[in-house]
Amino acid sequence: MTYETDSAASAKLAGTSTLDVSRIRTDFPVLGRMVNGHRLVYLDNAATSQKPKSVIDAHSEYYSRFNANIHRGLHTLAEEATSAYEDTRKHVANFIGGVDSREIIFTNGTTEAINLVAQTWGEQNIGPGDEILITEMEHHANLVPWLVLSQKKQAVLKRIPLTGEGRLDLGNLDNLISDRTKLVAISHMSNVLGTINPVKHIGEVSHSYGALVLIDGAQATPHMPINVKDLGADLYTFSAHKMLGPTGVGVLWGRADLLEAMPPFNTGGEMIREVHFDRVSFNELPHKFEAGTPNIAGVVAFDRALTYLEELGMENVRQHEIELSGYAIKRLLEIDGIEIQGPLDPQLRGGAISFTDATLHPHDISTFLDSKGIAIRAGHHCAQPLMRTMGKLATARASLYIYNDKDDIDVLVQALREMRRYFGL
Ligand code: PLP
Repeated sequence: MTYETDSAASAKLAGTSTLDVSRIRTDFPVLGRMVNGHRLVYLDNAATSQKPKSVIDAHSEYYSRFNANIHRGLHTLAEEATSAYEDTRKHVANFIGGVDSREIIFTNGTTEAINLVAQTWGEQNIGPGDEILITEMEHHANLVPWLVLSQKKQAVLKRIPLTGEGRLDLGNLDNLISDRTKLVAISHMSNVLGTINPVKHIGEVSHSYGALVLIDGAQATPHMPINVKDLGADLYTFSAHKMLGPTGVGVLWGRADLLEAMPPFNTGGEMIREVHFDRVSFNELPHKFEAGTPNIAGVVAFDRALTYLEELGMENVRQHEIELSGYAIKRLLEIDGIEIQGPLDPQLRGGAISFTDATLHPHDISTFLDSKGIAIRAGHHCAQPLMRTMGKLATARASLYIYNDKDDIDVLVQALREMRRYFGL
């Protein structure tokens, strides 16, 4: 069946790249590095992005100027640290479409955000015979928590299959969702196939059966404008480190009424209102879900990452990736023996481009490219069930971001050709 992705509909922008990549590159110190005698060509952005100087500086400035624990202290440093931390929360709330900042829960990443939902909402709401629907392209982070929960609760884990092109096959959606479906948990953009899923459409169908919709936005949030309400999500998760921010910071956004009804996740300091030896009451949102001392420096520095992306404009980021993915796909397909997984139309996908060579193993490709200073990823990309569905053990994956340009793609293609020649292919 054919359908238009939600974001493709909103991102049909014409014209040439709107990002000044050579200027952007000067903001990223690591890109000035030589690796194995070559200029670093960083194409592993789906794993983690590089960080601009403003983020690196904000991290170090926090420790050198106002390091203190938050929410508890009455001294100046504690107040400064608290207000910087809470400012980031407001910033995140604006970045994903202007939601209530009480609905932003900081976690240590997408993985923890999804586990939080599985272990709180899931514990409370999933029972024997209930169904959870995922897709065949999920990252383990949005698969294993639901598998473990289903097994524990004798619930049923179902999945939306894929078309040969690596898109969701929605032809049978009405048979996969029913009144027994309690949750539909889907990735917004696949980290392997690059596919952008029609999450809004799936959300509408899910809601018509009374199911909640959790969207794993780990790959989408760094690369396109996100408005969680417009998407019709009930819960949305993402990681700072894939969008120029520090590692160890993630976000769970959830509708306030849902979050309020959910039991706490971790327990301990900060998440309580009143504690006695025989009873405890819990803090209000968002603190109820943020037990203990969080990654204050990381959250504070994440603010600069959001500013950086906003200054570029998320529509421009998306447009740049449409153009560069289109170019990369075209150039890669010019090489004999290379096959690309996922949609070939850049309007339908992001910049995570998985490919295989008819003869060469992805690990060997990655090692050879590294000798030329090119960083890509090879393996199962934390999506083993998807690999089995595709009949592959592994793929090589080049993934793009704001500081990549056609030169990077040309260097990649030239190295791949050189490798094939080296092996007599
Ligand atoms: N979901 C998707 C689609 C991902 O690509 C990733 C990471 O690659 C994750 C979830 C997990 O993110 P994290 O490791 O930041 O928790």
